[in-house]
Amino acid sequence: MRQLLAKYERFLRIDPNIGAADLLRTRAVYMLGWVFVLSQFINLGFMSYTYGYWTLDHWIAISAIAVIFAATHILRYSKAFMGFAAFYSILMLLGILATSLPDQTGINSAMLPLLVAGAVINGFISGWRMVLIYAFSSLTVVWYLYSASMGWPVPVGVDPIAYETRAFMRAVQTTIAFSIVSTGLAVFSVSMHHMFRLLEDNIRLAKQADLAKSNFLANMSHELRTPLNGVIGMAGLLKRTEMTPTQANYVDIIDGCSTGLVTIINDVLDLSKLDAGKAEFSFAPFDLKAMLESLVALNRPAAIDKGLILELHWPENVPTRIISDESRLRQIANNLIGNAVKFTADGRIDVMLQSRPVKNHDGLIELCMFVRDTGVGIPAEDVGRVFNRFEQVDNRLSSTTTGTGLGLAITQNLVEKMGGRIHIQSELGEGTIFTIQMPVRQDRRMKEREDVSVARPISVSDLRATG
Ligand code: ATP
Ligand code: MG
Repeated sequence: MRQLLAKYERFLRIDPNIGAADLLRTRAVYMLGWVFVLSQFINLGFMSYTYGYWTLDHWIAISAIAVIFAATHILRYSKAFMGFAAFYSILMLLGILATSLPDQTGINSAMLPLLVAGAVINGFISGWRMVLIYAFSSLTVVWYLYSASMGWPVPVGVDPIAYETRAFMRAVQTTIAFSIVSTGLAVFSVSMHHMFRLLEDNIRLAKQADLAKSNFLANMSHELRTPLNGVIGMAGLLKRTEMTPTQANYVDIIDGCSTGLVTIINDVLDLSKLDAGKAEFSFAPFDLKAMLESLVALNRPAAIDKGLILELHWPENVPTRIISDESRLRQIANNLIGNAVKFTADGRIDVMLQSRPVKNHDGLIELCMFVRDTGVGIPAEDVGRVFNRFEQVDNRLSSTTTGTGLGLAITQNLVEKMGGRIHIQSELGEGTIFTIQMPVRQDRRMKEREDVSVARPISVSDLRATG
């Protein structure tokens, strides 16, 4: 339902980033349009059922449906909210006249819901001024009906004086009740729009503060990295000099700590650059297979140390050369493979690929990369948290405590900025599969096989097959 609404709003060219007040207005406009249309359909159904034949009222209802449907979809081109509010108000007033004039019923109870609905619509869509203008117009209609009813013949058996008094009192009571309702709605509309303005101002301020924080972090991390690289360089040089075993041990500790610190600073720098919208992506042709092979080779020593098998599976039909951001894809894959090695005690890690053409986009393929391990897994209730910043899930079966919990946050951010999605499946004690789906362009300059494979979702139960 939500997706359908989002699609409809895209069709109506409603920008989801317009302010909260304008979003409310646009939604009020099209929802009211549909309420009108549906109510007329129901009206048609009842008329057909009760009359049993086609009447002029049927034509009126059909015309109303056509007019309101067309008017609602003008929203696609014009966001003139006042115009819509005025249009709906006129419809309401015409509805009021239609309930009173033909049958000479005068001021009647069927009018009240229409009167109030019109005021509410104006309060939401336009504001207090339109509520008051609408109230004034409605009361003019009410008093017009009163004066018209004075010229109509008095129903048989009714005392003319009582008839006149009752009509007058109805007009007075409607005026009092509707004036109170309209004033209340005007006040409500003022405070509602005031609250929206306040909300939007605060959102803008919060965004500015967030951007300032990201900028500050990005600058600070950058500044910290430079002297730290000096420390690492000097520790490296120091290691080559003659030292006592105790001194060598101290230098190793300096080296280990500063290398760890640089990794954290690099992660913070990456995230703050992504937040501040300053992360740069450069798309160029490269050999994906060679890149992943080198990455797997880089991680293999750590895997072998733990007695794990780490393998890359490359199906024939996945294009080896693609156009994308090589260093970002390497960073994404490295985070996932690094995690798999870190959180697997025994068994294996498989990096698998699939690809399929993107419909109606020549040369564009959807690349799927699966990183599957037979490691500790993640408890079901924690799976949703792994992409949060500084979040390290309590992997009860894991003895690993290293890391800062930024790797997956960066990975998810990068994947999404590159137009892809990341997905996780995990079973505690069985293993985890991370899936990346990302649109990439095939490098046509290389003669690749065109018959790319169809992506098949891989499930955790597959772990046992190879595990
Ligand atoms: P960092 O990546 O910053 O060095 P980290 O690896 O702990 O630290 P993330 O990569 O963001 O942080 O992962 C977040 C948490 O998700 C991990 O701490 C771990 O609890 C869980 N996790 C991630 N990958 C796996 C995996 N393959 N198997 C089990 N748990 C995992
Ligand atoms: Mg990690």
